[in-house]
Parts: sequence; structure tokens; C-alpha cells
Amino acid sequence: MSKKILIDLAKFRDPVDGKYSFGDCIYNFHQDNIGMKAIVEKAMMLFTCRRCEDAPCIEVCPEDALEKDDDGFITRATNLCVGCQSCVAICPFGTIMNEVFTYKTSVCDLCDLDDNTETLRCMETAPKGAIEIVEMEMSEEENIYALSDLVLVKELRWEDFEKDE
Ligand code: SF4
Ligand code: SF4
Repeated sequence: MSKKILIDLAKFRDPVDGKYSFGDCIYNFHQDNIGMKAIVEKAMMLFTCRRCEDAPCIEVCPEDALEKDDDGFITRATNLCVGCQSCVAICPFGTIMNEVFTYKTSVCDLCDLDDNTETLRCMETAPKGAIEIVEMEMSEEENIYALSDLVLVKELRWEDFEKDE
């Protein structure tokens, strides 16, 4: 089975001050790059965004940087976003992490993760257990879902909370 990375969204959050941190990055072409932010952005929009019908985040954005795709997922045009964080403030569910929607955007190439990869710079520097290298498939019982062929995300999806109510 191929190696993948597993990220646990809750573990990026400091339990004391509530701030998120995503570890260091060694992407050479952009010194301020924190590649994990790009993965977390996708994951939060896929798994924690409620996909509001009249999405206030889209309405409030002064740069028209946000839109809904055909499946209802919010996407951000990073070339338009100026990092004003109006969307962060208005989201009624606290979906958008302000540490992710910053002016400088980041990219992640997973450092060419392959079956010989033992560790990653972000994995060593992110909060403990937030990023792991695993050999497993998604598992709904463990709240682990596939974000892509190489990335798994552990998160309680909001749909599952609604089912329990
Ligand atoms: S942070 Fe970016 S996406 Fe959010 S409201 Fe401001 S410009 Fe729009
Ligand atoms: S306001 Fe928040 S929950 Fe609603 S669509 Fe925007 S990001 Fe998602």
C-alpha cells in the first residue's frame, strides 16, 4: 500500500490560546511558504464549511475572490484575495481559519512523497500528531476521509453532527 499523509485538523489548534499553526516548510521557491495551509484550506472547505445557501462569506468579500463550485464547495481565487479576513469574521460557523486566509498564499507539493519517505519538515514541526505518514485507506468509522490520492483528513464532518441531533 502506498504512503499517504494523514492530517488531523483539530490538532493544528493550540488548546490553550486557540491559535492554529501548521509547521515549517522547505518549499524552495517561496520563502514564506507554509504548504500545509494550502491542504488545510481545501480540507476545511470540503469537510467543515456548511455550504450556506446565501453564503455570507461570498457576499462580504470585497474582491469577489470567493465562489461556489458546481458541487456547492467554496473556492478562493488566491490571486484576487487580499487577506482582509472579512469572510473569516462573518462566517457564522467559524469555518475559516484566519491563519489560512492570509495575503501571502502557499502551495504544497508534498515534498514528492513516495514509499521511501520517512518524514517531512512540516510533520516534524507541526503540533504533535497533526501530520503523519501512514499506509491506510479512508475509514468512516475513524472519521478519516480522502482529500486526494495522497492526502487523508481526520475530521468530524458537520453532516455527521446533524445526523446525531
Ligand atoms: S480574506 Fe480574501 S476571500 Fe476573504 S473576504 Fe478578504 S479578500 Fe475575500
Ligand atoms: S459562511 Fe462559512 S459556513 Fe457559510 S459558506 Fe461561507 S465559509 Fe462556509
